[in-house]
Amino acid sequence: THMTEPRIIVHGGAWTIPTDRRKAHVDGCRAAVDAAWGELQRGMPALEAVRLAVNVLEADPTYDAGRGAVLNADGRIELDAAIMDGATLNFGAVGAVRNFLHPVDIARKVMDTEFCFLVGEGAERFAREAGISAIDPAELVVEREVRLFNELRARAGFSTHDAFRPRAGVTGAAGEKASTDGTACHCPVGPEPAMPKGTVGAVALDAAGNIAAATSTGGTPMKRPGRVGDSPLCGAGTYADNETGGASATGFGEGIIRVLMTRSACDFLRDGGASPADAARRAIELLHRRVAGHAGLIMLDRQGRYGVHCNTEHIAHAYALPGGGIHADVELRR
Ligand code: ASP
Repeated sequence: THMTEPRIIVHGGAWTIPTDRRKAHVDGCRAAVDAAWGELQRGMPALEAVRLAVNVLEADPTYDAGRGAVLNADGRIELDAAIMDGATLNFGAVGAVRNFLHPVDIARKVMDTEFCFLVGEGAERFAREAGISAIDPAELVVEREVRLFNELRARAGFSTHDAFRPRAGVTGAAGEKASTDGTACHCPVGPEPAMPKGTVGAVALDAAGNIAAATSTGGTPMKRPGRVGDSPLCGAGTYADNETGGASATGFGEGIIRVLMTRSACDFLRDGGASPADAARRAIELLHRRVAGHAGLIMLDRQGRYGVHCNTEHIAHAYALPGGGIHADVELRR
């Protein structure tokens, strides 16, 4: 069989990342690529590589996934995750699980059953039966998120979408760059300073030419208990198909769901043969045009070309460079 040079790209959320937190976001993404890339080069399948990369990011308290996840309106953590195999279109996901550090591992086990998606208590029971050990949910909670929860609770009229809008008057940001290339943002800018988020995701291409994608999140701050976002939904936050490519999204979930953003991005690769860079940009344009959404996504195609785009100010991301090295940043390359 034809051997491909492996590729891996990860993200750690698209939002306005405060200056003093950018380094941690970049370093975490680099570490995730680093961990998975060596394994991919030693022959690890893409499906395991994306799980491994997401595991690194889930364990890192910097991000809104696993440890460090945001709190919902009840002050509790509910985690969503998904994983997809582009070779078979097998898909596994979990929604609203409370006491596991690595929900993507549960999603991976779900993928091996006859089902695609388990939620809540049923998902937690399945996880324990599958040999994944539960942890005390308090171990997932970080002080930063408790503070944010208390702040948001005191704030009347907070809307989730506000959290993703670029701030007014920001220069040199991805959001502003986007507005010069057709993603013009005329919607109201966010009234508030940044609020911690950072869904994580990974897309990989392995030596056998298979593509996989995975996404893991605590969702949005102050979300309604039981709310499931785009991340674990097939074609919304996570998608992979060997015939086109793979993608993982982050941002305003209620918008990403309605335009099936990752599936749309992959379709752009097929219809008209857009490059991943163009397909990612078109997917964000679609989101913005149809539902005035703000988000980011990473993708790669079967030839191993990367795409990353956002209309938020930042997207924490990293990818392995062909020939060696890792590119990691919170801003888009110009
Ligand atoms: N897309 C995620 C959700 O809506 C949140 C995020 O990416 O920050 O659950």
